[in-house]
Amino acid sequence: MGKVISISNQKGGVGKTTTAINLSAGLAEHGWKILLVDADGQGNSTSGLGINREHVPIGIHEALIDEYPLTDIILETGYDNFHVLTSSKDFSGIDVGLYGVLRREQRLKEGLALLKEEYDFIFIDCPPSLTLMTVNALTAADSILIPIQTEYYALEGLGQLLGAVNLIRLGLNPELSIEGILLTMYDRRTRLGAQVVQEVRNFFQGREYVFETIIPRNVRLSEAPSYAKPALYYDASCLGSQAYRTLAKEFLTQQSEILSVC
Ligand code: ATP
Ligand code: MG
Repeated sequence: MGKVISISNQKGGVGKTTTAINLSAGLAEHGWKILLVDADGQGNSTSGLGINREHVPIGIHEALIDEYPLTDIILETGYDNFHVLTSSKDFSGIDVGLYGVLRREQRLKEGLALLKEEYDFIFIDCPPSLTLMTVNALTAADSILIPIQTEYYALEGLGQLLGAVNLIRLGLNPELSIEGILLTMYDRRTRLGAQVVQEVRNFFQGREYVFETIIPRNVRLSEAPSYAKPALYYDASCLGSQAYRTLAKEFLTQQSEILSVC
């Protein structure tokens, strides 16, 4: 039975999409069956994998509104073991579209139920908001992975996100766990970077897992989407790709530790 992991932070530009694509790619290249759900109407995961939304008749957002079977709209990425549920091109009405419908927070969970049998890991790339789509993602997820940009205001807004996680646990998804906090865009040349890493580790110490792997600021990671490829395939040896491969290993070690505790 596959695990669903929501990559979420309502703060924009913290590395959610970059992590969704490259962690997925890092696991898929080792034979794990991966489905990436592009729940963000910006469609960055979709375009970052080289898929033009103009050519996709039904994306995840319309499918959820119309209760269309998700199995029928899965696309291949061109990479082995790596499939995607693309974002819809006309997404803007998702909150409006689901407004007033029954079980509107559960649509994604219900849609993914069957797919959990077919994939080892399903990652959901969330929008930078705490709107209904993110509520759907957190309701569908077994765990949440939170990327945090290694910068001065790193912890800002985190209280709101953790508060949302607690609310979801109280009602819609009591089992939701925190997979881990991932520090991204680390600049080792600055003293600030090291200070922020320490601050984040201190903040979560004894409470939540903070990945040992830190994703460096690396220009190859930011170039890859314009070549419509995961960075791991755009430049396999750059520091950013190496970091995401290391993250994939750490993530897998984490899974076996979680399983051994259960
Ligand atoms: P949004 O909230 O808009 O969905 P996001 O959290 O998904 O953003 P990304 O799109 O992954 O964030 O990253 C924001 C920008 O920073 C992108 O242009 C991306 O290419 C770039 N970027 C992400 N990670 C890194 C990194 N480690 N080094 C350099 N650039 C990065
Ligand atoms: Mg994004």
